[in-house]
Amino acid sequence: MEFITHSPEETEALGAALAKLLVPGDIIAYRGDLGAGKTAFTRGLARGLGCKEAVTSPTYTIVNEYLSGRCPLFHFDMYRLASADDLWSIGWEDDLDRGGICAVEWSENVEEALEGALTVSVETLGPDTRRIRMEGEKDLAAISL
Ligand code: ADP
Ligand code: MG
Repeated sequence: MEFITHSPEETEALGAALAKLLVPGDIIAYRGDLGAGKTAFTRGLARGLGCKEAVTSPTYTIVNEYLSGRCPLFHFDMYRLASADDLWSIGWEDDLDRGGICAVEWSENVEEALEGALTVSVETLGPDTRRIRMEGEKDLAAISL
């Protein structure tokens, strides 16, 4: 599935639409540069799950968790990890065991650990324009803007 969004709000709406299709244990592996809109999309995921907390970037914390929705949402930033070998040090397995949805920025750094994940690529086309591609085993046909 491929969409073009024209504002952060539209990107969030797409995230919220995807959230309706997610179940605990699902992993979203983001692709896309700094400032593309990965965190904006995650804000939508959180909203779609019914989370009440404000979503902020996990750049300094590596993972932020949002527990007020219909299932936990773990938002990771793997920028500072060298490889999947570093995942043990951040409690990745523990969070998976807690039955949440994991949304992973800089998933490229831990690619080996994310086989079977739903890939969400966010590409900057212009100041407010983004191309968002979602690929995975899930039936995504229900998603619309
Ligand atoms: P990332 O997490 O990929 O580094 P962020 O979501 O933190 O990116 O930031 C995206 C930036 O791009 C924000 O400043 C946002 O306002 C801006 N922006 C402009 N247009 C869009 C759009 N269509 N979708 C998402 N973000 C957009
Ligand atoms: Mg981000």
